[in-house]
Amino acid sequence: MGDREYQFVTEAFETNWIAPIGPHVDAFEQEFCKTVGSGHAAAVSSGTAALHLALKLVGVGVGDEVFCSSLTFSASANPIAYLGATPVFIDSDRLSWNMDPHLLEAALEQKAKLGKLPKAVILVHLYGQSADIDPILKACEHYGVPMIEDAAEALGATYKGRSPGTFGKIGIFSFNGNKIITTSGGGMLVSDDAALTSKARFWATQSRDPAPHYQHSEIGYNYRLSNVLAGIGRGQLMVLKDRVAARRRNCEVYEQALGQIPGIEFMPEAPWGNATRWLTCLTIDPVAFGTDREQVRLALAEAQIEARPVWKPLHLQPVFSEYECFGGEVSEDLFDRGLCLPSGSNLTDEDLNRVIQTILQVRNAASVKIPASVSL
Ligand SMILES: *Cc1c(COP(=O)(O)O)cnc(C)c1O
Repeated sequence: MGDREYQFVTEAFETNWIAPIGPHVDAFEQEFCKTVGSGHAAAVSSGTAALHLALKLVGVGVGDEVFCSSLTFSASANPIAYLGATPVFIDSDRLSWNMDPHLLEAALEQKAKLGKLPKAVILVHLYGQSADIDPILKACEHYGVPMIEDAAEALGATYKGRSPGTFGKIGIFSFNGNKIITTSGGGMLVSDDAALTSKARFWATQSRDPAPHYQHSEIGYNYRLSNVLAGIGRGQLMVLKDRVAARRRNCEVYEQALGQIPGIEFMPEAPWGNATRWLTCLTIDPVAFGTDREQVRLALAEAQIEARPVWKPLHLQPVFSEYECFGGEVSEDLFDRGLCLPSGSNLTDEDLNRVIQTILQVRNAASVKIPASVSL
């Protein structure tokens, strides 16, 4: 937390606005629009809820196909299943680890020939880095398929000077506890089309028709964000820049210490913008490094340092394995060799150094091929 969250939460208590509606919710939406440069926003209870509403807003329903990045968290694709639609996964490129524009074009072309275009494309911006939006948006527009951006991990990033999440028809963000800023749980749906965000608010508030009694013409959801949590969000927005700077610094420190080691490659920062380095990720080439990712992860775990493999691609997940995937080798390789290092905004130099030293020790142990005691 920063300095202001407590004050905003106290204000919610003192004014008795303890509800999924209130002045903090309205202000949070407006301030969020300013932060990302979006026309309109609807604050909701999670990023997943925002994505569910986004898919419904573009008309996704039973039997439709929806394209989605494969290398991502399951929450990017779960809402496709909520709506009875079918996910089709698209592999990553090596430059950004995000959806490969060429694969997307090929997939759209193939589906167009079959007369079965997807109802939407979910473009994920992974680990704080924007995908290559322009060619992806161009391909979507060419085939008349709406692009929805899952920018849950990319608040604070840029693509050609603008925030990812604001290029497609709808964008979504998350304020879950692990994200770069948090409301403990929460999400935001953004769009330049006010009709879409107000419809999202309507569905998120149990689809209450304007009537003095409770009247409903549509199925609704209980997806609105609490006014208390929106207060936390307002305070968090004020420290977003600091959080990005802290995460980027973590990555710089790691990169300086480990970047020159044979076999270690950091997730590239693509030329089209700034990544937040929400997580610092790298890949380990077992031959050049001397041992593999898993041994490094286990050595870190042994030292009470939590590090995790890069997302397991969704096309490899048991729950999604029956679905089609275009490509797959890149995300499979990144899953195989990729490691996410501790990346919190509050890590100290001592913390970072402990991680670095542990990795260096694994390498030294692996590279000792002559007895260490040999003396001249
Ligand atoms: C966290 C996350 C979500 C879901 O957000 P919640 O607020 O946790 O529901 C969706 N997509 C990606 C890529 C995420 O990392």
